[in-house]
Amino acid sequence: MNLLDVVSGGKKVAALIGSEWRLGNQQYNVTNPANGEVIAQVADLGSEDTLEAVAAAEKSGKEWRKVPVKQRARLLRRWYDLVIEETDALAQIMTLEQGKPLHEARGEVVYGASFIEYFGEECKRVLGDVSPGPDSSKRILVLREPVGVVAAITPWNFPLAMITRKCAPALAAGCTIVIKPAESTPLTALALASLAQKAGIPDGVINVVTCSRPAEVGDVLSTDSRIRKLSFTGSTPVGKHLLSRCASTVKKTAMELGGNAPFIVFDDANLDAAVEGAIASKFRNAGQTCVCTNRFLVQAGVYDAFLEKLTDKVRQLRVGNGLDEGVFIGPLINAAAVEKVQAHVNDGLMKGARLLCGGKVHELGGHFFAPTVLADVTVDMLVASEETFGPLAAVFKFESEAEAVEMANQTPFGLAAYFYTNNYRRIFRTLEALEYGMVGVNEGLISTELAPFGGIKESGLGREGSRYGLEEFTELKYACLGGI
Ligand code: NAD
Repeated sequence: MNLLDVVSGGKKVAALIGSEWRLGNQQYNVTNPANGEVIAQVADLGSEDTLEAVAAAEKSGKEWRKVPVKQRARLLRRWYDLVIEETDALAQIMTLEQGKPLHEARGEVVYGASFIEYFGEECKRVLGDVSPGPDSSKRILVLREPVGVVAAITPWNFPLAMITRKCAPALAAGCTIVIKPAESTPLTALALASLAQKAGIPDGVINVVTCSRPAEVGDVLSTDSRIRKLSFTGSTPVGKHLLSRCASTVKKTAMELGGNAPFIVFDDANLDAAVEGAIASKFRNAGQTCVCTNRFLVQAGVYDAFLEKLTDKVRQLRVGNGLDEGVFIGPLINAAAVEKVQAHVNDGLMKGARLLCGGKVHELGGHFFAPTVLADVTVDMLVASEETFGPLAAVFKFESEAEAVEMANQTPFGLAAYFYTNNYRRIFRTLEALEYGMVGVNEGLISTELAPFGGIKESGLGREGSRYGLEEFTELKYACLGGI
């Protein structure tokens, strides 16, 4: 498949099962959220196709697990190089189907590719142990083996990186994979898979099942006994549903779910740095990021100054089609996303919040929402408990450190948190008190392939990235060697 074929308008695009690019009997439209235009018609596959994809992954897995790690590393490296070479084409596909500005899409290609590079290197270090036994006639041998066939279900907000974060460690560990991308962003996934094929990754190691009916495909992926691990990134309700489905065959699971990130600014913070971090952590991808700040908690002494600086910056954020130069905020993914942001704004205003800028659909109309700052937000407002997933900065005021920590933890979620302070004792106190899987301390951007990404509480299970992310795709086998 020529990568640019998928962006040349109205093309039919096939999914990948084993060695076959399959169009299926039906296709569905993938549209550009910036203008509603149909970009491509993509294979709309169902449960039969999914069963075949699982069979292809199982078959190829028997060989792939035996491929020497140095060869696996070389193949992953080749895939990485091709992804980087095609940065511009991949970014363009992503902007067309997802809406994010081109510079962000290019950034995602590089970020997503970094997982392929990292796990390609790391696959040489899937190590076991030999250790003393309970008496002198025995030794203990611990082997790390691939889990087997993996299923990955991924969201639309990071159409490339959410796939490589699962697929690269799976392949590195010796697993094969069936990927079900989000229905609105299948093209990036298919382009990635075609590059993997070009890199020489054998047929059946990566399969991509595209569909407009996720429950049908998801049912197979969560219940088929040949699949030994389901790795899901998406909303908490869907994650809980899949988790319960996986129980019937006791699959390993990784669940990267929703968040409700607090961003605490203490009186002693560097305010300019805090505002810079706030813009990055709130408005990236138009606020449609699971680690996006949802609640700004600002101490009384700097509350007014922070609001003034933040609002000043937010007013300058340029909204528009992601393909246009200089655009910082693209469209939201669909009409429902726009309605949710508006509902959070309206609920806040009705309960006494103050609007400092934005607050409504942008003058461009459609799925564009004006970047918004809402002050004097309180815990009874919707935005305090629900992930907005849009360009709304909701700002709460607090008096003491204890109050801030209590407010921050007052949520069933525990994905990412941020805080700004220049007091090192407070850094340790706050870091240890926050019930979150990831914390940005004087830092608004925390995602990297070098660190374990993931949440606690209802934000999920498991970690992605770093050596911990590779362990997730392995099983331990222990052998007791006797008669020594
Ligand atoms: P979603 O749960 O609606 O969809 C995610 C994926 O699940 C998509 O591929 C979708 O097709 C599929 N899906 C939906 N219903 C299904 C079903 N019944 N069976 C099987 N699959 C099904 O979420 P979304 O709207 O695409 O993504 C936004 C959410 O994802 C937010 O809550 C965000 O916080 C979360 N997210 C989390 C992380 C993380 O790493 N923790 C990263 C990105 C996004």
